[in-house]
Amino acid sequence: MKKLFLIIGAPGSGKTTDAQLIAARHDDITHYSTGDMFRAEIASGSERGKTIDSFVSKGNLVPINIVIETIVEAIKKAPTPVIIIDGYPRSVEQMVELDKYLANEKDVELSSVIEVRVSEETAKNRILGRAAESEVVRGDDNVEVFYNRMKVYTDPLAAIQEFYTAKNLLKVIDGEGTIEEIVNNMDAFVQSKI
Ligand code: AMP
Repeated sequence: MKKLFLIIGAPGSGKTTDAQLIAARHDDITHYSTGDMFRAEIASGSERGKTIDSFVSKGNLVPINIVIETIVEAIKKAPTPVIIIDGYPRSVEQMVELDKYLANEKDVELSSVIEVRVSEETAKNRILGRAAESEVVRGDDNVEVFYNRMKVYTDPLAAIQEFYTAKNLLKVIDGEGTIEEIVNNMDAFVQSKI
């Protein structure tokens, strides 16, 4: 039975970096980031990528059918017994769809949903810092799109927390410390569950 971990967090929470570093430490973990998968599709120049870009560039959610296809494909192709996906779910609809999928998928079990929690101030400073430092500038790392991304993240958050808390699957990790502290903390938690 494969074990699936989901990581959610505000833009700038560090969720993708944390998951990448954890996966790099363990041969039995594969990591996928929904945002990275969408950016790869955009970079390919495909029609699907163009559709995706029209949502990502504004900080809006990519349509549900594309998102579901993307994560189901990632779950299916993962070559390891442990899978970490960051950036999912981002809506109640996505959460319910995954729940239905997993109910029929006997080879994969949802082990935990990790929420990386940071203040809006920290999230904003990290995003704007990343935009200033990065060579590969992301079109959505600017202050206007940041506020929309924050709202899109925050609107369904209480419902998502409630759903996974009721299933005893929600784990909140403090995302305010150093990357090393956060990764050590998250890694210890993941290891305790596998
Ligand atoms: P991220 O790299 O996690 O900040 O995601 C970048 C962008 O990709 C988001 O602002 C959305 O436009 C899109 N995206 C990522 N994950 C999802 C998802 N689960 N559902 C819909 N859109 C998503």
